[in-house]
Order: sequence, then C-alpha cells, then structure tokens
Amino acid sequence: MHPSVRYRTFSAYLKKRFGGPTRKLSLNAGFSCPNRDGKLSDQGCIFCEPSAFSPFGGPQAPPLIQQLRQGIEQGKSRGVRNFIAYFQAYTNTYAPVARLKDIYDTIWAFPEIKGLAIGTRPDCVDQEILDLIAGYSKNYEVWMEYGLQSVHDETLVRINRGHGSEAFLHAVTMTRKYPELKICAHVILGLPGESEVLEKETAGIVASLRLEGVKLHPLHVVTNTSLARDYYEGRYQPLERSEYVNRVVRFLERLWPETIIQRLTAECPEQMLVAPDWLRDKSAVLREIQDTLEREDTWQGRYVKL
Ligand code: SF4
Repeated sequence: MHPSVRYRTFSAYLKKRFGGPTRKLSLNAGFSCPNRDGKLSDQGCIFCEPSAFSPFGGPQAPPLIQQLRQGIEQGKSRGVRNFIAYFQAYTNTYAPVARLKDIYDTIWAFPEIKGLAIGTRPDCVDQEILDLIAGYSKNYEVWMEYGLQSVHDETLVRINRGHGSEAFLHAVTMTRKYPELKICAHVILGLPGESEVLEKETAGIVASLRLEGVKLHPLHVVTNTSLARDYYEGRYQPLERSEYVNRVVRFLERLWPETIIQRLTAECPEQMLVAPDWLRDKSAVLREIQDTLEREDTWQGRYVKL
C-alpha cells in the first residue's frame, strides 16, 4: 500500500485486477427479504427503505436485462469497460436455487461483466446456494456481501435485524469452504446505543476473519423508516461528520491491513435523506477521512498484530 493512501481502496484494487476503470452496477432483481415479508418480521431493519437502494430500488424497477444494458451503456459513455453486476436490493439469495440461477444467469449476455457481487443476509445462505454461486467463479470474480452491521447482538435486536452475529460467523465459515469466493462485510457506524468502544470490538472481530472486503457507512435516516420516527421524536441523533470520521479512522486502524475497503460513506437519493445533512457531500467526507489519517499519521491495520 502506498503510504499516501493509508487504506486499501476498492478503486485501486479494481484497476489492478481488471486493468482499467471498473464499475459496480447496482441491480434490483425483484427479490424480497424475510425481515420484510413476514417470515421473520414485516417491519424490516429500522433504517431500511428499499426505494433508497439506488438507482433501481423501488418496486417499479425495470427488467434486470434493461438495468444491465442501461448501466453498461452509461458506463461505456464515460470510458468504463469492465463491470461488476451487483445484486444489491433486498436479500439476493432469498429464493429457490432454480430461480436464483435464472436471475444470476442474466449476466452471461454481457461480455463486459467481469464480476458478480451478491448482497445478502448471512442467515439466507446455505451450501446449495453457495455451490451455485461458486460455479460462477470459473468465469467471474465473485463476491459475497454479508450484512453484519455490528457484532453486538443487543444492537442487532435494537435495529430489528432478525439475526445475531452468530449467523454472520456461520455464513463466513460456510463460505470459506469455497476459496474462490471473496467475502465482504457491511458494517454501520453510529448505530443506536453503539459507542466507539463497541465499534472497535466489531473491527477486531472482522479483522480476525481476514475478510477480503469491508463496507463502512454511517447510519443515516431515510424517509418512511422507523428510524425516521425515532429521529423526529428525539430518540435518535445521527453522528456529526467529525465524529463519524473519527470512528472510521479508529475502525480502520483495527482492521486487517489486506482487507479492501469497498466503501467509507453512504449514498441515498437526495429527496429521501432526512439526516444527517453532511452525507450529501460525499467527497468532503472522504477528504476528511484521508486528511485525518494523514494528520494523525495513522493507517489501516495499525493496531493489528501480524
Ligand atoms: S435485511 Fe436488508 S432488505 Fe431486509 S429489512 Fe434489513 S436492510 Fe432491508
């Protein structure tokens, strides 16, 4: 890692891996989620508003093939040549295996697609599903993206996640039987009741797993969520930008140095963001993280014993 970078960026990884600019195409393949359809609950995670899964989050998402075509055309017009099909909206392994195969197979039609990333809940994978997904790794780089959010079960109950940290650890153990699959964990900073200390503990557990990727983002309040209600009624206050930046830096210091940081902030459609307002300026957040790492002369993995 070049000392000026101080953490492993996804863009640098992709450039090296695919020899040029590579874009992840966010897709909505029409899945549901057991935490929304009544199997586990019909409430969803307290922060979840599917329409905020950009850019095809809403129920009226165009057919998958059209989403792919449109994303690739847009990318190509900006000089991007390689794409990763990112099944993002809802729980992208929550269907019978035959249906999953039909959906994932859509990518065969697009030679520009070099990778597959599947975002899912850790309690929604099993060996049969992983067998199917691992099959794609002969032709694609394949990432499993598991929502962890926190290793603290009390927090997971509080955000109505519908699974505990054990489910995440189990999913990682199962996935590690397929060395061709890369694993990325999603973690949220600023969850209700979570202090910097608790987040450092999450970083420590994630580091011990030596995952290939991590996505960090601040908990943000989106319209039509129970978190928005908590916010308006004074029960939840998002982190200030400086506090978020501080927590990101503390997290990175405890993370495995080889883990690729796929994301350090969040995106949300303008009109759906309730708070914090600072989230609207993504580049300012990233700049402040980089500035803080440099000012403190610190880096990803600083406190990890190798
Ligand atoms: S698991 Fe994902 S899709 Fe399901 S309710 Fe939570 S955030 Fe929404």
